[in-house]
Amino acid sequence: MVKNLSKYVFETSTKNKKILYDTVSQKILPLESDHKTLQENNFLSGQEKDSLYSRLFRMPEALQLYLIPTWGCNLRCPFCYVLDKLEGTGKEDNAIDFDGFYNFVEQYIDKYHPKVISFAFLGGEPLSNIKNCISFMEKIEQIEGKFKIKCRKAMTTNFTVKIEKKHLKFLRSLDQVSISVDGLREDHNELRKVYKDKLLTDPFITTLKNISNLPLKIKQKIKIQTAAQDKFFENQNIKEFFLIFKTIGINKEQISTGVLASTKYFKAGQKNLDYLRGSSVFNAPCCIFRYMSFFVIDSNGIHTNYFDNDKQEKMCNFQEQYDFSLIEKLYKKHIIENMPILRDSKCMKCPVVGLCWGKCFGSSCSQNPSNYCGQEKLIERVSSLAENKELV
Ligand code: SF4
Ligand code: SF4
Repeated sequence: MVKNLSKYVFETSTKNKKILYDTVSQKILPLESDHKTLQENNFLSGQEKDSLYSRLFRMPEALQLYLIPTWGCNLRCPFCYVLDKLEGTGKEDNAIDFDGFYNFVEQYIDKYHPKVISFAFLGGEPLSNIKNCISFMEKIEQIEGKFKIKCRKAMTTNFTVKIEKKHLKFLRSLDQVSISVDGLREDHNELRKVYKDKLLTDPFITTLKNISNLPLKIKQKIKIQTAAQDKFFENQNIKEFFLIFKTIGINKEQISTGVLASTKYFKAGQKNLDYLRGSSVFNAPCCIFRYMSFFVIDSNGIHTNYFDNDKQEKMCNFQEQYDFSLIEKLYKKHIIENMPILRDSKCMKCPVVGLCWGKCFGSSCSQNPSNYCGQEKLIERVSSLAENKELV
């Protein structure tokens, strides 16, 4: 057994073979590897930072694009991650350079050959600017037709916008529609503050009505996320919740339950930091810190950061040709300057950083993840996974 291994390297086994596994780079080497091989793969003590950086700046196989048809929304939920970015109700005209968007994706594919592209419609409330949603979708269909790449199209919506024929056509072309329904009717409504006009009196019922009026094929694409508060989890409440959705054609399997994440706007969620203190294994960096694989497209161009205005890093405006080497450089800079674990000295010394990455709430509480984490519990869990040969 080599004594001077990196702190990220665990001895475990897979397919009945004893191996060394680097939890950060996710590389595997045979247990009996010689010193040179270990060194070349950053498996030795003192090479932790090299391993970390090689993983952080590895070219991705999947490209993920957040498409923002509008930064407007008909609501102003106090927990909203992008509350300080919202403008108006979303009905206002919003000039997006859709040809520029197409050019960017085309040139990215030519250069990096991603295997999958995931398009996520977000906002603001995407359905409040259906014109821009449709224009984005037309370009996506052109991309699918030309490159034969697996494309996944999803949308997150508050689903309180009046659903018309033009919305249905767009909804049909999506693979998934995610709707957050925050548990009990009163909790949900309390959290869905209306922007200026007072027309929407009961967001919970509006959402239910909108869902029940949908054709079955669209209903099947719906995922209900219940970011609920404590009272909701009392047995009877959960049963009633599932029943409501069953009667409008949404199965139990389409519903996922969670707890309200803490955000900078909603302090009551603070207690749910227990989630961060837990010991679940989370083996990829937060999406916004996945090198060259995550971009936000809005009317201002291409960015790397969805959540935080202060750190909004504009990669480029739409144009004919992209200098990808410059974008790579800016992206690297963005990650080094903003990724919380890289600025948290406890994380930088942490042996299980590759199975935690500080987790992500997209909010201020994730700025110093080690203040909240359960490092010891996670180390115990990872060691026991390695001993039971379940780590890989
Ligand atoms: S509906 Fe969504 S975008 Fe609009 S305020 Fe609420 S969380 Fe934010
Ligand atoms: S110190 Fe805590 S938050 Fe930081 S990487 Fe380790 S377990 Fe994760």
